[in-house]
Amino acid sequence: MSDADDVRRQVEAFLETHDPAATDPLEFLRARYDAGLAWVAFPAGHGGQGLPQALQPEVDRLFAEAGAPSNRPETNGIGLGMAAPTILGFGTPAQKERFLRPLWTGEEIWCQLFSEPGAGSDLANVATRAVRDGDGWVVNGQKVWTSGAHNARFAILLARTDPDQVKHGGLTYFLCDMTDPGVDVRPLRQITGEAEFNEVFLTDVRIPDGQRLGDEGQGWRVANATLNNERVAIGGKAAARESGMIGVVADTWRRHPERRTPELHDRLLRLWVDAEVARQTGLRLSQKLAQGQPGPEGAGMKLSFARIAQELSGLELEILGEEGLRYESGQGWTMVRPERVDFTGRDAGFRYLRAKGNSIEGGTSEIIRNIVAERVLGLPAEHRTDKDRPWKELER
Ligand SMILES: Cc1cc2nc3c(=O)[nH]c(=O)nc-3n(C[C@H](O)[C@H](O)[C@H](O)COP(=O)(O)OP(=O)(O)OC[C@H]3O[C@@H](n4cnc5c(N)ncnc54)[C@H](O)[C@@H]3O)c2cc1C
Repeated sequence: MSDADDVRRQVEAFLETHDPAATDPLEFLRARYDAGLAWVAFPAGHGGQGLPQALQPEVDRLFAEAGAPSNRPETNGIGLGMAAPTILGFGTPAQKERFLRPLWTGEEIWCQLFSEPGAGSDLANVATRAVRDGDGWVVNGQKVWTSGAHNARFAILLARTDPDQVKHGGLTYFLCDMTDPGVDVRPLRQITGEAEFNEVFLTDVRIPDGQRLGDEGQGWRVANATLNNERVAIGGKAAARESGMIGVVADTWRRHPERRTPELHDRLLRLWVDAEVARQTGLRLSQKLAQGQPGPEGAGMKLSFARIAQELSGLELEILGEEGLRYESGQGWTMVRPERVDFTGRDAGFRYLRAKGNSIEGGTSEIIRNIVAERVLGLPAEHRTDKDRPWKELER
């Protein structure tokens, strides 16, 4: 029996003993995790069974068709797309046991405490300090652009543990409890009017050593695994044809025959082809990824995703003309702190403004081009100063 047939039968058998209509949603999700039918590419005992990632959409479809409760992945993108594969790759058995199940069921939402006012593209410049104190660490510093921190129970955190090391060498990676009294989350309002992200002040935050992920000083390596996963999570999802931004804009085009011109038609078709090529590349990438840890290949997907999303959302405004300038009818430009990040929802004006962030979040397009040039194509490295040279050695 093929893997696909086998996993289909497992879902059927699971549904026979767990009626979605009669089971408490959380208990259903926990049981699905325990049966290895959560993220099927993860290992047995951690919600999966080491199957190809390509089987995941089929499993999710079967559960959705049966009316099964969802773990609401749209509310926990950082947890599912970034924290989970990093914990799987670098966590101790106790950390995997503690964190992965409530992360997958959606009981615990995660955010990412990486960027700082002086450390964005140059992430290794992180200045937040973690100092050893008995069997734990005391953390002080400021993070910024922290998406979803207002809903998060835990964070993946990059902090400096040894200021005397070369900058990439003195970092350590932690799992931070956002309910610690020293964590202060303040909203930052975006161009869309919403405050999806926040600044986060960390004052004498205590983190037990058991929540250090990877060795002391290994933070840069662990963070790179997270960033590679982030680029796949943002740009490389295996999606259906004409879904995402191209689906929305093609729909707008079909609903407005009166707005069509040959020039808009030509641009839409070109972008449709670009979106389809990107989608097929995403499918190929997800088939190559048997389990959690992608290399830098996801960077190319993220770069194309950002360009296509920005061009399409701009084209949609042009198709709609004046109507496209109306913004969130009914709600106005009120600040909200959303529960989920939504690239394609709401109205055309929101989509256009939100897409601006796509070429910044998860690494700017300029930085991603450097990564594609150096680590995928093997072109000569960008000039760096002597101070940075040890980083190149650490990175390999
Ligand atoms: C919507 C959104 C959500 C985000 N969510 C999170 C989050 O949850 N957690 C988190 O930690 N961070 C988050 N970020 C932060 C994001 O990762 C950073 O904004 C990004 O890495 C860029 O850093 P910076 O803003 O400091 O810009 P800078 O690093 O100051 O860059 C400024 C400009 O200089 C360019 N530049 C810098 N260095 C180079 C170079 N070597 N070569 C060429 N050009 C260069 C950049 O491309 C950019 O155009 C989010 C950002 C956005 C927009």
